Amino acid sequence: MSCRVKAMTTRGRNWILAGLVWATAVWGIAAEPPLTRFEFSQPHMGTQFRIVLYAPDAALAARASDEAFERIARLDNTMTDYRSGSELMSLCHRAGGPPVAVGEDLFRVFDESQKLAARSGGAFDITAGPVIHLWRRARRQHKLPDKHELAQAQRLVGYRNLRLDAKARTAQLLKSGMMLDLGGIAKGFAADEAMRVLARHGVTRALVAAGGDIALGAAPPGQPGWRIGIAPLDSPDKSPTRFLLLHDAGVSTSGDAEQHAEIGGVRYSHIIDPRTGRALVRRSSVTVVAPSATASDGLATALSVLSPKHALALVRSTPNTATLIVRATGKGTQTFEHKIQQYATPPSPPGP
Ligand code: ADP
Ligand code: MG
Repeated sequence: MSCRVKAMTTRGRNWILAGLVWATAVWGIAAEPPLTRFEFSQPHMGTQFRIVLYAPDAALAARASDEAFERIARLDNTMTDYRSGSELMSLCHRAGGPPVAVGEDLFRVFDESQKLAARSGGAFDITAGPVIHLWRRARRQHKLPDKHELAQAQRLVGYRNLRLDAKARTAQLLKSGMMLDLGGIAKGFAADEAMRVLARHGVTRALVAAGGDIALGAAPPGQPGWRIGIAPLDSPDKSPTRFLLLHDAGVSTSGDAEQHAEIGGVRYSHIIDPRTGRALVRRSSVTVVAPSATASDGLATALSVLSPKHALALVRSTPNTATLIVRATGKGTQTFEHKIQQYATPPSPPGP
């Protein structure tokens, strides 16, 4: 008898539970009010940051995007190598000394960078600062770096000379004169962090683009994802020829389309091979889809440096990552890809 009563009670409770779940589901659907598309743009980190978001009203959209841009500006201040007072540069000024305590943001970027450096065999390396500095000057002056100077700078490059201690949250630059450059990963990190700020305001259907590095949140209302165009290698100003449909991911394109210099008839990229100290001369466009923009940003730079064979091997061994690599050859272009087709979409939604 008591058993039956108990069974009935349990069943009764289940019904109540089911009712609650149902009510929540209905309320959940009704709870998303009509959303409007808003777009904001600000210059940071030497590029234009663009935020596209869907929000119930303009006031919330403005509040959320203002705070997201503030976060990006603070990260720029921390990570820039253009200002000697930045946290990054203060650390570099102490190269060759004992470990230095660093803030959480810097440590997280260092940590991601070092893991990628190890996995890419040094193709991605934030300690390449001294060499990058010389190539930057070379591009500005249209004059190749001095061989002797380049060799000196190259001696300071090597990710193993950057020691991290997660417990103490310190970084140590083992050689005096070492210089860190976060240009290959900071924009992706800032885009991810901006997305987190938006989410704290309840804004999840959003996109944060930092030039070619894009963090994507949930899809726009009623859409299966964000349509992201990939510019063709030869004419980056022309309309994209391939499109990806993505959400809750990071996507980056690295290449010399925007930043390069021609010296003596050779086109030198702003991406350098940290293993040789040479700027890349082969034209390429590398697109990476990854779980975060931090990951896609770093990987796109790494894959640009690696040979197609090694690049594909690195992507295959990185979970939830896809790539499209287009390289110029003497005769045209060569394409290599891994799992990118699953995100491919036609140029525009099929019309009626
Ligand atoms: P973009 O800045 O156009 O998005 P990348 O993400 O590929 O392109 O970053 C290029 C920048 O990263 C360079 O300007 C330089 O500051 C830095 N960099 C260049 N080569 C490397 C490399 N092999 N590893 C890490 N950082 C690099
Ligand atoms: Mg990058």
